[in-house]
Amino acid sequence: MSARVLDGTKIAAEIRGEVADQVKAWKHGPPPGLAVILAGNDPASEVYVRGKIKACHQVGIHSEQLLPPPTVTTEEMLAHVAALNAREDIDGILVQLPLPKQVDAARVLLAVSPAKDVDGFHPVNLGNLITRRPGLVPCTPAGIIQMLDRSGIEIAGKEAVVVGRSDIVGKPVALLLLQRDATVTICHSRTPELAKVCQRADLLIAAVGRPAMLDERHIRRGAVVIDVGVNRLTDGLAVERYFPGNATRKAEFDSRGSTLIGDVDPRAACAVASAFSPVPGGVGPLTIAMLMANTLAAATARRRR
Ligand code: NAP
Repeated sequence: MSARVLDGTKIAAEIRGEVADQVKAWKHGPPPGLAVILAGNDPASEVYVRGKIKACHQVGIHSEQLLPPPTVTTEEMLAHVAALNAREDIDGILVQLPLPKQVDAARVLLAVSPAKDVDGFHPVNLGNLITRRPGLVPCTPAGIIQMLDRSGIEIAGKEAVVVGRSDIVGKPVALLLLQRDATVTICHSRTPELAKVCQRADLLIAAVGRPAMLDERHIRRGAVVIDVGVNRLTDGLAVERYFPGNATRKAEFDSRGSTLIGDVDPRAACAVASAFSPVPGGVGPLTIAMLMANTLAAATARRRR
């Protein structure tokens, strides 16, 4: 079997196009606005934030960046959040993690108004998700559901296994799958016989953060595999092992000294699954597209009264 590749870049472009059309037709004052607080000098965070700001430009969402220094205190971060909460023209507030270690990240995230919490991390929004009330849903889990729906993959009645139980991916995606009538199992580092549990899955969602940890022992023949993991391979032999004969990967490794890989062995996904989302080009672009969709949804809920 050679699995169908679920093209996250294409699906994300569709979603961004729909958001752009709605922003163009916006009739409720200034366009929707997103503010990103990027504290410190974490290079990966800088790359992520650049991607988010670029996406805002593409869809017509107003964006602002606040760049507190690495020495910022919790009180100063709380003051930034309070000022953004009070602004009528800002609909979404995103606090880029990780925050410098002296900052109480939980307190800062809790201070974001739930109405502007476009990451969907606030306990009020997670509570809304559990109780099936309207609210802002975390972007990566929402993107996974979009990927399945827009690829014509049935969720209702399916056995779904989620590997990973984080508050930002594993738990919320499990809840969304449950709401769509899948039978859901959540696995974690203390799950015995992980491969046996994963073998039950029609839909296997991997959100662990360990390179190529899931392989043919874990994937049932014909399953749909969604790989959320983003890991960096820095070992040339491992690159050859996981991407044999792949000239693009080799060239990338030769020029940068690394290449990205998910939590699923791509050879196994390709050979055993019926469909799988690649890394990169799978769930990642959808996360940013759903951030745009959430900002528009927050603006609509706040301003269209
Ligand atoms: P996280 O908070 O570190 O959670 C990882 C989960 O994996 C934990 O629940 C952990 O179990 C479980 N785990 C670790 N080792 C395991 C093992 N040997 N067997 C079974 N389960 C194991 O990570 P996260 O924030 O959910 O992110 C997961 C991955 O997705 C990372 O690679 C991250 O970079 C990526 N990610 C990608 C996007 C995107 O947009 N593409 C967005 C978010 C995250 P315990 O709870 O028992 O420790």
